[in-house]
Amino acid sequence: NKRKKYSIDDYVKGILDGDRGILSQAITLIESSKYEHQKIAQEIIEKCLPYSGKSVRIGVTGVPGAGKSTFIEAFGKHVTGQGHKLAVLAIDPSSERSKGSILGDKTRMEELSVDQNAYIRPSPSAGSLGGVARKTRESLILCEAAGFDTILIETVGVGQSETAVHSMVDFFLLIKIAGAGDELQGIKRGIMEMADLISINKADGNNVHKAQLARVQFENALHLFPQSPSGWSPKVLTCSAIEKTGIDNIWDTIMDYCSHTQQNGYFEQRRSEQAKYWMYETINEQLKDGFYQKQLIKDQIPDFENKVLNDEMSSFVAAFKLLDAYFQDIKNKE
Ligand code: GDP
Repeated sequence: NKRKKYSIDDYVKGILDGDRGILSQAITLIESSKYEHQKIAQEIIEKCLPYSGKSVRIGVTGVPGAGKSTFIEAFGKHVTGQGHKLAVLAIDPSSERSKGSILGDKTRMEELSVDQNAYIRPSPSAGSLGGVARKTRESLILCEAAGFDTILIETVGVGQSETAVHSMVDFFLLIKIAGAGDELQGIKRGIMEMADLISINKADGNNVHKAQLARVQFENALHLFPQSPSGWSPKVLTCSAIEKTGIDNIWDTIMDYCSHTQQNGYFEQRRSEQAKYWMYETINEQLKDGFYQKQLIKDQIPDFENKVLNDEMSSFVAAFKLLDAYFQDIKNKE
């Protein structure tokens, strides 16, 4: 009961005033699975939407150990040092199960977490990837309304989450390390194809030469990819997050990308396409959740599953019977 009760307008005003406490509480509402919280959250988002959009949204990915946290700390300090306000969000659908790799962990970003011009928020932990991603995208809108002009979204480079991040950012940065071998780095061609910039991290000490070799290899590999619709040729750089070298180059490259794509119209076009994508994603996710969370369905599903497993019913018949039961139930309640 310590928490003050805010009205929707209190939330919106607090966010627009850049009040971090209120911003955090609003994001907590976004992350809540309670219906009444979701409802308030949606109203807050709706009212913040006109004040959002004026930022550079950057996705950062790389396998565990590539140096993402260390990089974000160094990069973040560089960005705030340039007079920008930076928010760091994360998508880690695994965190619920493993409780291990909580991205955007403040303790791993010691300097940045006490920087007045930085705001760090760990990944929402509950739910499917689709749900976690939607929540992060909504939080991004609130961060923009709160005046953050640079948004970093971190994800771990081992699964589907890159695609989710890619669908909400303007620029996608892939962090790699030299000599780990692509199979070890779990990098699929698809992820490389999403990258606007690959930076080979840990280019320090004895590793500098190896990093430079890797850079050339990646440049060669990227040449084989088809030209991106952005008209931008992906770059490959080296950096050391620990020694804070090459970080300014990365920021300058992002700025170049923005002016390039703003000039040729791709920047806006991509944002519109992303907005459309998120409309369908949200519909799909809500339909799916509504279906699987309905008691009627929960009660019947094990039986249908057994019948399918025992060859007593085909998968399709089972699916359609369940869907029919669901929609019939909705109709009856109307
Ligand atoms: P993450 O799992 O991708 O977030 O990686 P971390 O930032 O936690 O870094 C993993 C390990 O690599 C840590 O021990 C870091 O100190 C180390 N590391 C990160 N960046 C660099 C770097 O630029 N050079 C060197 N030598 N080590 C680094």
